[in-house]
Amino acid sequence: MNIILLGPPGAGKGTQAKFLEDTHSIVQLSTGDMLRAAASSGSELGTQAKAVMDAGQLMPDDIMIQIISERISQPDCVNGFILDGFPRTTAQAEALEVMLAEKGLPLDFVIEISVDDEILVDRINARVAQMPESERRSDDNAETLRKRLGVYHEQTAPILPFYRDRGMLKQVDGMQSIEQVTAQIEQLVSAV
Ligand code: AMP
Repeated sequence: MNIILLGPPGAGKGTQAKFLEDTHSIVQLSTGDMLRAAASSGSELGTQAKAVMDAGQLMPDDIMIQIISERISQPDCVNGFILDGFPRTTAQAEALEVMLAEKGLPLDFVIEISVDDEILVDRINARVAQMPESERRSDDNAETLRKRLGVYHEQTAPILPFYRDRGMLKQVDGMQSIEQVTAQIEQLVSAV
């Protein structure tokens, strides 16, 4: 089972991807986690990624498409995967469609976790207030979130109609409790 989770930064895609990973024995592929790992390794890609992430901007499409194309061909993806943070632009969505067709892989579900911007800002402020500085992501603050939300509305939200036009887009209200969101996603993916 191959799933895409869409939604703004802080909507809970990573949290829900982990539940799906445990429940369905499929792997979470978080492009953000991959870039953060590259950033802490200090590689050339990582140095570029850190600067882009801290600015709340997006990495170039060709790099991200290459990373995902290689990753979904790895043996641990044979049962399926959850894309968390990819695609993030229409170009990425189009490239993914071609890539899956070439590899003969289906796309089973595209699920948008929707959350209003103001709630995301409230959530980040609450999180930052609770967390020791050493555990914070360097892009985890209200100022960067606002930039990331701008980028989301401009560059990522246009992929929603891309999947809606294909009759694939399902929406979940991400302003409910984590448990309720999990239950709703579970209902969607098991209703086949
Ligand atoms: P995330 O953990 O998914 O919120 O991603 C953190 C940051 O990594 C984003 O703000 C972007 O700078 C970068 N990033 C992650 N995924 C992508 C992607 N698919 N395309 C471009 N940039 C990405």
